[in-house]
Amino acid sequence: MTETADVVIIGSGIVGSSVAYHLTNAGCRNVLVIEREPHQGKGSTGKSMGGVRAQFSTPANILMSIYSIDFFSKFDEVVGHPADYRPHGYLFCATNERHLAYLESNRMRQLALGLKDVQQVSREDILGFVPQLRVDDVIGGVFCPTDGFVDPHSVMMGFMLNARELGARLWLDTAVEGIEVEGHEGDRRITGVTTKRGRVSTQVIVNAAGPWAAAVAGMAGADLPVHPLRRQLVPTEPFDRLPKRFPMVIDMSTGFHFRREGAGILLAWNDPEETPGFKMDFDPAFTEKILTHAANRVPCLAEAEVNPRRAWAGLYEMTPDHHAIIGPSPDVKGLYFVNGFSGHGVMHSPASGRITADLILHGRSGLLDAPQLSVERFATGQLLKETAVL
Ligand SMILES: Cc1cc2nc3c(=O)[nH]c(=O)nc-3n(C[C@H](O)[C@H](O)[C@H](O)COP(=O)(O)OP(=O)(O)OC[C@H]3O[C@@H](n4cnc5c(N)ncnc54)[C@H](O)[C@@H]3O)c2cc1C
Repeated sequence: MTETADVVIIGSGIVGSSVAYHLTNAGCRNVLVIEREPHQGKGSTGKSMGGVRAQFSTPANILMSIYSIDFFSKFDEVVGHPADYRPHGYLFCATNERHLAYLESNRMRQLALGLKDVQQVSREDILGFVPQLRVDDVIGGVFCPTDGFVDPHSVMMGFMLNARELGARLWLDTAVEGIEVEGHEGDRRITGVTTKRGRVSTQVIVNAAGPWAAAVAGMAGADLPVHPLRRQLVPTEPFDRLPKRFPMVIDMSTGFHFRREGAGILLAWNDPEETPGFKMDFDPAFTEKILTHAANRVPCLAEAEVNPRRAWAGLYEMTPDHHAIIGPSPDVKGLYFVNGFSGHGVMHSPASGRITADLILHGRSGLLDAPQLSVERFATGQLLKETAVL
């Protein structure tokens, strides 16, 4: 017997789970999520740093963050499961006038779009957050107290558990092997998916395959400019020479940033020498590079112990303008993209699930002007260009 579903979601990471949650809560209950791994969270979601921030440069990202962070603040009550949202803030530190002016023009845009408490901070304020920071070259910064952290695994599980309580089905250990499309050029539409468990008949497919999204789009003969880029994180062993609680601190001179993770510190840095590809192994040479940046900005971190076996690597899903692609495929009717978060898929999971469900069910979204996020922008040249990428 052929299975049928109103909507098939390919991928059960935080984004696919959020789409399932938003669809089922909007009344669309015959939803099937198909995941090739035996457990959820084996893709980028399980590798994330869990940072959430509204301090972006484009209106679309700022609006998606405002919606999402408000959602995280009510997640436990609304979804019925914990998100572990910790509003510890994000603190951007500038060492030159150009960076300070950039932060200030972003802050003005964020305030105009409704972000309330984002504020300028002085060098002295910055020292108040982390007295151990080297600030001789810091000329100021910006802090937003509602930015902070969530637990990505809990958010993903919460979305999916809630969706399943409302009727969504989750098939684990089931790779989607093909997408069936009918019709001719100019009028092609989805009719089903093939998996090792058999065929599923559907007219709507959501591609939520994270860094593997281009391959899934290719199964339907559609182009999707999403490529994987390795991203590495290094945790220290327990370290008590920094405060117990402090914001995510971003050194804008290098892009080095860090936050507390339990008893230790989690160190992050976007290595400009990294090249695209499905590279999942942690590169031991990265440890020395990141520790150099860490000790330069926070001298006492030179004393921190690091066990390279506890460090890890994962994949960002990058687009050419560092902005998510959300919306219907122009080439194949019934195929929807929710991909290419370029490092922001955890923080934007509530908004992206909501927008995708809105588009499937109503053809438009009440959250923002969704066509700007469409994949068609790469053909028309109307790129969004996010520059505040960490
Ligand atoms: C080191 C690191 C740090 C990060 N830090 C942050 C952060 O601080 N804040 C933030 O917001 N974001 C962060 N991100 C980005 C964030 O993790 C991702 O944007 C987000 O997890 C994407 O979620 P997803 O559900 O789209 O993808 P994924 O979690 O990768 O899920 C995709 C799923 O699709 C499945 N799949 C793929 N192909 C198929 C198929 N053919 N059939 C069935 N299933 C398939 C995969 O198995 C996978 O489970 C970070 C990423 C990394 C790597």
